[in-house]
Parts: sequence; C-alpha cells; structure tokens
Amino acid sequence: MGKSTGFKEYKRETIPYRDPMLRLNDYAEIYTDPLENHLQTQGARCMDCGVPFCQSNNGCPVDNLIPEWNDLVYRNRWRDALDRLHLTNNFPEFTGRVCPAPCEGACVLGITEPPVTIKNIENSIIDRGFEENWVQPQPPLNESGQSVAIIGSGPAGLAAAQQLRRAGHKVSVYERADRIGGLLMYGIPNMKLEKRVIDRRVQQLRDEGVEFYTQTHIGKAEEFPAGHINQIMQEANNPITYIAPNDLLNQFNAVLWATGATQARDLPIPGRELNGIHFAMEFLTKNTKSLLDSQLTNDLYISAKDKDVIVIGGGDTGTDCIGTSLRQGCKSLVNFELLPEPPVERAADNPWPQWPKVFRVDYGHEEATQRDGKDPREYCILSKEFISDGLGNLAGIKTVNVAWEKDSSGRFQMTEIAGSEKVWKADLITLSMGFLGPEQTAIEMMDLEKDERSNIRATYGEFSTSVKGVFAAGDCRRGQSLVVWAINEGRGAAKVIDQYLKNLE
Ligand SMILES: Cc1cc2nc3c(=O)[nH]c(=O)nc-3n(C[C@H](O)[C@H](O)[C@H](O)COP(=O)(O)OP(=O)(O)OC[C@H]3O[C@@H](n4cnc5c(N)ncnc54)[C@H](O)[C@@H]3O)c2cc1C
Ligand code: SF4
Repeated sequence: MGKSTGFKEYKRETIPYRDPMLRLNDYAEIYTDPLENHLQTQGARCMDCGVPFCQSNNGCPVDNLIPEWNDLVYRNRWRDALDRLHLTNNFPEFTGRVCPAPCEGACVLGITEPPVTIKNIENSIIDRGFEENWVQPQPPLNESGQSVAIIGSGPAGLAAAQQLRRAGHKVSVYERADRIGGLLMYGIPNMKLEKRVIDRRVQQLRDEGVEFYTQTHIGKAEEFPAGHINQIMQEANNPITYIAPNDLLNQFNAVLWATGATQARDLPIPGRELNGIHFAMEFLTKNTKSLLDSQLTNDLYISAKDKDVIVIGGGDTGTDCIGTSLRQGCKSLVNFELLPEPPVERAADNPWPQWPKVFRVDYGHEEATQRDGKDPREYCILSKEFISDGLGNLAGIKTVNVAWEKDSSGRFQMTEIAGSEKVWKADLITLSMGFLGPEQTAIEMMDLEKDERSNIRATYGEFSTSVKGVFAAGDCRRGQSLVVWAINEGRGAAKVIDQYLKNLE
C-alpha cells in the first residue's frame, strides 16, 4: 500500500471528458489526457483493504490485480504496473475506455466514501504502455503443430486468439465484416473507442502470428434481414465469402465460436414497415463504417441531420445512438425508457458490493442536456404505434405511460395509465431494446445444442459444446453482456482448448 492515509487525504476525482459542446463537433474520443500526479494521488486512495472486493465475484470479471497496480502507479513504477495488468487482461485499453467498472461498485472504500477511480488508472497504465513502446509482440517460442479456427473477431475471439497463439498453436480468425473487432469496431462508436486503438492491438496479434480472414462468413448465403451486417458490407462493395462450418471442423483441430449475440429485439407494433425506423446496430454500424471509409462523405449512412429523432431503449446502445444523432446534427432528440427512473442512491435491496443500480448520466445524456437544455430520457413510456405521413414514411409515434407495481409474489407488473396516450413527432427512430441471442443458421448447420435462450450450450468454465472439439465463448454463449466478460470467456476458453489440444498430442 503506497500511502496509508491516502484515502483520507485525497478526494475521488475522475479524469474529465472533453467539453460536451466541443466534442459534439467531432467523432474523436471524449476523454482528456490525465496528469501523472493526478493518477498517483488517485492510486494512493486505494486502502489495500486486505480482502479486495474489487476482485471478488461482484468486482472485476477478469480478476485484475487492482490493489497491486494502484500501488505501483502511486510509486511511479508504471512498467511494473503494466506487466501486472497484462497478466489478467489482454486488452486493458478496451476495458479502460468502455467497461462500466463493476470493480468500483465493489470497492471497499466505496462503503463510506466515493470509490477509487480504478478504470481511469487502468486506462492510463495501458495508454502509457503504448506511448512508451512497452507493448510488444510476444510470438511463441515453439510451434505445437495444432490448429484452431475462431469464428468472430470481437473481444472474446481476440482474447482467445492471443492466448492460443502464445501457447504455440496456429490460429485463424474468421470475420464477416471488413474490419476486425466485432462490436468494438462496429457497435461502440468512435467517440468512446477510437478504432486506431483496436487496429494497433490487432497488429500486435498479427505480429505474433495470428491469421485474420475478413469478409468471410461461416455459414451460408441466405436472405439476411435489412440492416444486417452482411448487407451493409455488400452495399459498400465489400463482397463476402461463405464457408460451411463443418469445413472448419475438417481442417482444424479445434473450433471456437465467438460470434456474439447479434439478433436484435424488434418492436412489432403497427407501422413497423415505415421508412425511417432502424435497428440501432444498422444506424451505428453504417455511421462508423462511413466515417472510417470516407469521413462520412460517401452517403452510405443513415443521417439524423435536421430530423426529429427518437431512440427507443436505453443502455449503452441507446446512449450511443443519442451521441451519434447529436453529432450528425439532429433537430430534436428524445429517449424512451420503459422502466422507471432509477434511484439516485442504492436501494435497500441493492446493497454494496453489488453493482449499483442507480441513476447515471452517460456521455450522450450529458451532451443532449448541454445542447438542448434537458436530459433526453422519458421514463415509463410504452410504444403503441408508428404513425405514417401517408407516403410510407415515419411521421411520429403513439405512446402510453405505464406504472410499475409489485404483485403478491414480489414481481414487478406493468399497467398502462388510462388517458396518458400521446403522439410524438419523429422522422427517425432507432430501436435499441437489446439482443435475443446469436444468429442461428450457422449454429444449426454444425448441429450445436442450444440453451433455452437460444445461446450455444456450453458450461461456463468448460466452454465445450455438444460437438467434440468445438467450443463457445462470449455473448454467443452467455447472451448479450460486456466487453470485460467477453475477454474473461475468451481467455477461459483458450485455456480449455489448449489442454484439449495437448491431450490430442
Ligand atoms: C452499441 C453497443 C454498445 C456497447 N457498449 C458497451 C460498453 O460501453 N461497454 C461494454 O462493456 N460492453 C458494451 N457493449 C457490449 C459488448 O460490445 C459485447 O458484450 C461484446 O462485444 C461481446 O463480445 P463477443 O466477442 O462475444 O462478440 P461480438 O463483439 O459481438 O463479436 C462477434 C463477431 O462475430 C462476427 N460473426 C458473427 N457470426 C459470424 C459468422 N457466422 N461468420 C463470421 N463472423 C461472424 C460478427 O460480425 C462480430 O464481429 C455494447 C454493445 C453494443 C451493441
Ligand atoms: S476491467 Fe472493468 S471491472 Fe475490471 S478493473 Fe477494469 S474497469 Fe474494473
């Protein structure tokens, strides 16, 4: 522990984001650069509490050695801090930017004081590591002669690829998009995670010997729904090659599915067919792709400019639709939430060290509030009908307010409030109501068993599916989750696959 009185002397201070009105003019990251002494005093707030709940089941999913690197940062031993960080996390630059930081919700200091700024410190360690050129490829010293195919290049696939390659196996990653990264690339927008941050890490994996095949879909050509990533690729002239899943089984010693949970939940109410209603992922993917391909000059994106925009659904996806619509110059913006506004403080049934379910102001909400003078969120709103302009285009949406009450078994039930019907003007609506699970066709072609939520069935910790030599990790196994969990599962699956391959020898 660096400074025994640090937590008494220093207040929690997070690294500020850029001024909302300035950052709305560009897609650069929202973060500012931290000062070194700021990080050291924040690191000194760590109490080295003895039983670090930040590393418990409620805390960091990749078991980051948080008190150790807090202490090393306080002592100005940045290189050592980086080495400790990389022991548990392949990609701290991703989690340091986008993780919701359950570690901070479980920080022991957080019982009585605001918690340590763990996420900021993590991000600063890795950014410094790249600046100082300390992050170097670590190719294996020996080749095992065994090979693994990984389907999907999100954080689960990438973490598994790096671990397996470093263990000496030949690793081939197949990705249907034109760029590597999964939802890190085409999901989370540039202002939260600049794509150069992904590219430099992918380059490290390439230098270690991982082979990447983009625009390659494992499955078959079929009728993909509007806005599907394969259609977006083809519209932008990125043709896709199809490979049957069982061909991979014949060519490789093991196969890992890391295909994510990309089936979006729809809103099948009257008027759904109108022009102007899009899944969030279509809106976000097209914007990022056009930004990267042409700085938004190729017209291959859905523009919110001068439009009345409604974002249906919250969470990270809803916030990212808000931030993107504002940057495109929407006229007005409203965000519907079906659930009630969360409490400002933890509720009695949500004690420490659980993840605090409290009201938060994310970057998009802050930007909307600054620009429009009010938070865009409207709570307890149920969408009833999309309204047409008479020409097949969206003109608005009809809603009703709802109330939530616990029934006799303690479960929340929703009732519509009579007389609360309202019509909202809208010419662009994005649907960000979560995801239902992985896409099914390719999974069925390999005859993999599924669980009751349509995810690939594979026990956590074992990661093996119903087909021998085939494994699953990340959102396609656990359902839509977080980057940090995808890294956890990718690492876990790599360990099991490595053992499986050793047993084959
Ligand atoms: C808009 C948005 C914002 C988010 N923001 C955050 C955030 O701020 N913080 C956070 O922690 N989490 C966030 N998440 C969740 C997080 O991105 C995911 O939990 C995580 O990326 C899952 O990783 P994965 O590797 O399992 O799958 P994914 O990242 O989904 O990657 C799967 C990849 O597999 C590819 N693929 C699928 N099927 C095939 C096939 N048949 N053949 C070839 N390739 C295929 C896909 O194209 C995709 O690239 C967000 C999600 C979304 C949608
Ligand atoms: S990965 Fe997430 S939970 Fe783990 S230390 Fe970083 S911010 Fe905290």
